[in-house]
Amino acid sequence: MNKRTCFLVSVFSIVPFISGFAQAPQLPQAPASVQVPAAQPPAGEINSLKAQYDEYYSALQAYSDKAFAARQDSPEFLEYSAAGKYLRAVLENLSFRIAAESGAAYRPEPSRYGGAVSAKVAAEVAGVFNFGGVSAGATRGIPIKAGYCQINYVKASTPFLVQYDGFLNKGEIILTFDDGPGPLTGEVSASMKDGGAQSLFFVLGVNLGESGKARLKAEAADGHLAGVHGYNHATPSGKPFTALSLDETLRQLGNVNSSIDSALGRKSSFFRPPYGVISPDAVKAIYSELGLVPVGWTIDTLDWSTKDPDTLYRNTISMIARRGKGIVLMHDIHPQSRTAAKRLVKWLAENGYKVVSPERLVQAYKGE
Ligand SMILES: [Zn+2]
Repeated sequence: MNKRTCFLVSVFSIVPFISGFAQAPQLPQAPASVQVPAAQPPAGEINSLKAQYDEYYSALQAYSDKAFAARQDSPEFLEYSAAGKYLRAVLENLSFRIAAESGAAYRPEPSRYGGAVSAKVAAEVAGVFNFGGVSAGATRGIPIKAGYCQINYVKASTPFLVQYDGFLNKGEIILTFDDGPGPLTGEVSASMKDGGAQSLFFVLGVNLGESGKARLKAEAADGHLAGVHGYNHATPSGKPFTALSLDETLRQLGNVNSSIDSALGRKSSFFRPPYGVISPDAVKAIYSELGLVPVGWTIDTLDWSTKDPDTLYRNTISMIARRGKGIVLMHDIHPQSRTAAKRLVKWLAENGYKVVSPERLVQAYKGE
């Protein structure tokens, strides 16, 4: 597969929900006597995509600022970070479409950023995550496994998996990468291997075609572990698993694990819900029926928030230094994450941190 095709697969695999957002621009109502062109002229199409890009990008910046200002385990942080992950995927999709239409990458003009979340985007985010939906009747945490994880409701209606890392000693780090495998995965995998950092890659079934399975095998050959993230992320339109029935969720995750099995000759033991959103019943059934241990994170690098690897690297080491240990979340689909992770693994080694095996998660969950 050539580079161009790889790019195509990678972007669409994360964001297969093109038609969901960014519908074709509305043509003005024309009087019957006027000839209306069958299709929007390309310039209008591109300008509309760029305007949408600016609107979503402004929201992404706003959620990023709010997330950095919030405590990592607060409900606000979970809300803003989930919104940011979703918006980054929307932006990658729009950016791909703009490039396909205009033949050039689009970087928004700073003056066009409002730096705010428009009412339209706020409503879309609330709809995707069911923020402010019908209360689950639970305002306190729902225990899943004492000392390991629980479910907390955000905005009274959206269940988030909240991970603890009390089973890690000071200086111990678990590295995780989500949403691949993609064209950058091989490089991430190789640099983690070079740094002696066995990592856990949470994969999407939609990425496990021929080339994706080859990438997964290469990861395993580098000594890394695979985890189940979902087929999509988690529905085709980017909604979390709470938008699906329990049966649909189990079927989807079971199928992804079969794909992993067919590539690696063994099933995974790890599950991470996209955005961390999953109901208590689902997380319990996913373990009892599929044998998948839930895995959250305790250090969300917010690597969707910037394209600049230096900023991401500095943010990440400061988060790790502050906490002193933890389960680190990054994405092996972003160029900034690929570059920052390479530097991070060196920094960890030089600063007395130890990257430990992700198997520690299974041991902690099972109380071993
Ligand atoms: Zn994800």
